[in-house]
Amino acid sequence: MLKIALKLIKTIEDHGYVAYIVGGFVRDQLLGIVSNDVDICTNARPSDIRNIFPNSCLPDEAYGSITVMIRNIRFEITTFRREIRYLNNRKPVEFEYIDDLLEDLKRRDFRINTICMDKNGKIIDLLHGREDLQKREIHTVGNSIYQFSQDALRILRAIRFATNLSFSLSSDIKQAILETKHYVRNLSYDRKKEELNKIFASIHVRYGIKLLLELGLDKELQLQHLKEIRSFDDLIGIWTQLYAEDIYPFSKNEKELMQQIREVLTMDILDPITLYRYGLYVNSVAASIQGISKKLVIQKYNELPIKGRSDIVVNGKDIMDLLQAQPGRYLKDILLDIEEKIVRKELENDSNVLKKYIVAQYGDLKNS
Ligand code: ATP
Ligand code: MG
Repeated sequence: MLKIALKLIKTIEDHGYVAYIVGGFVRDQLLGIVSNDVDICTNARPSDIRNIFPNSCLPDEAYGSITVMIRNIRFEITTFRREIRYLNNRKPVEFEYIDDLLEDLKRRDFRINTICMDKNGKIIDLLHGREDLQKREIHTVGNSIYQFSQDALRILRAIRFATNLSFSLSSDIKQAILETKHYVRNLSYDRKKEELNKIFASIHVRYGIKLLLELGLDKELQLQHLKEIRSFDDLIGIWTQLYAEDIYPFSKNEKELMQQIREVLTMDILDPITLYRYGLYVNSVAASIQGISKKLVIQKYNELPIKGRSDIVVNGKDIMDLLQAQPGRYLKDILLDIEEKIVRKELENDSNVLKKYIVAQYGDLKNS
């Protein structure tokens, strides 16, 4: 990935511009973490970039960044800029392109995100981001209150980076968040959820939630159940405990899962029928919320004699043949009956055993 990235900036420079890798990729590289995408900054304008890579640019995105895909790696190429005016504590509505790297770095959020790498792989660290990496502490570029009032998403990004990297927040940042946190309300629920997901999916999620609570962001994010969370090991599991679907956006599938987890929470999780009907995922999430060992759930689930209806060795047609009867509602009832008995191990999932049971129990259907 690094090799391809260096080649890409070399190509831009061969056209007479300057270009650097910046942001997450350099930060993660220095920390020994693998990144998914690469941010590049350059004095080339978006139209120049499109001319240099005519075949690999994705369609224009808003906000003047060009995305180039090379060998399935996403390169986000952004022209050096100065941001002039923000709207609603979020979007810069006005910016101008500039030629100076340092000026571009000054509009960025945190010092750890301003470290650059040039085409030879040399680190350029104009704002001393590496010291922060060493101290494992996050600092804003310049005044924290100014940064957060310009763009309140930076508040959540600060907590997201602290959580993912297990870094502390500078005391400046903490103080500034206390003073500007109400701006978080102006962010869209989509953006808030995106950042929250990254916090909730982190292995250091407990630390992230501790920070959110410590800084009073639960209130600004309208997550009044945040302090009651008991299980942290699944993203949907966390949202299930937050009861936030009325305001935060979720897919139909996610809503259904949360609903099912809540249903299971009112039942006996280790009951074979519950395990069978709701499946392993929903049950293990519910188990974890109830403090029941996941291992036990997996063990009990694996002990189920069947995992679905298609595992039953007799089907509707067998039953009709056996009873010499026509199709009808009764088929469903019989299947449901034997299904439950198999799951409860009251009947063996064996064709002879089942047929004998069906004839004995329902044989008089033939005559009715
Ligand atoms: P990751 O990609 O790992 O989530 P990143 O630091 O690369 O982290 P991106 O969202 O990809 O974050 O943004 C790339 C760079 O752009 C950041 O490192 C930062 O320098 C700058 N940046 C992104 N969002 C903002 C923002 N809201 N305010 C200021 N600078 C930002
Ligand atoms: Mg990035």
